[in-house]
Amino acid sequence: MNKILALNLKMDCNKKIIHFVNNFLSELTNENLQIFVAIPFPYLIYAKEIIEKNTNHKIISQDVSAYESGAHTGEVSAQMLKDLKIHGTIIGHSERRLSGDTENTLDKKIKYAIQNDLFIIYCIGESEENRKQGKTFSILENQLKLIANFIEKENIIIAYEPIWSIGTGKIPTNEQIKEISVFIKEKIFTNVKNIKILYGGSVNKENSKNLSEIEKIDGFLVGGCSTKKEIVDIGKNLSKN
Ligand code: PEP
Repeated sequence: MNKILALNLKMDCNKKIIHFVNNFLSELTNENLQIFVAIPFPYLIYAKEIIEKNTNHKIISQDVSAYESGAHTGEVSAQMLKDLKIHGTIIGHSERRLSGDTENTLDKKIKYAIQNDLFIIYCIGESEENRKQGKTFSILENQLKLIANFIEKENIIIAYEPIWSIGTGKIPTNEQIKEISVFIKEKIFTNVKNIKILYGGSVNKENSKNLSEIEKIDGFLVGGCSTKKEIVDIGKNLSKN
């Protein structure tokens, strides 16, 4: 089964960077990987024309509106993404949650994304404080409730991204990541087959070799390194396991 490599370019994106990323990804075309690249809204079509051309890679957005349509200046709806043939979107990234996405907002984002047949990478993760207080599992369980009714039938994958690990260089142990994956696959969604879980948080060329060895992890969501040449090594390490 192909491993999943998802790149989140965040706001580090322009036309030149899209070409860089495309060149790096061309070195991964023969690896057993399904690649998703999350791009800021204005560059979606530009990236789609370049990165999806002659490959199986998929361009997705980094977010979507919680509104269906109407007078919401500055918002980008799931309908618009569908109209532009954008494959899917990230929902629930911690940087969006920290910018104000509540459970209610995320619930609507998920609903409209599904109504418009968008693939979803749904991000979950605990803060450092949550972990210290022993609340990791209850926090994750709560975050997962939003996709509980959809995970079986819809095209959704989960990205476990501890907030304390994003962009910090700190990563959980393989054992801790495996424990989360087992919790999701065997305790929360016991009867659901084929759940896919990515790990995200400071993945780089060095740690990706060790992280790739974690059983029950289906791939990575990579932020900071997604625009760097080392994404090629990360992809190769991932596809070897
Ligand atoms: C992310 O933004 O989803 C992410 C994992 O970032 P980083 O790889 O920089 O920690």
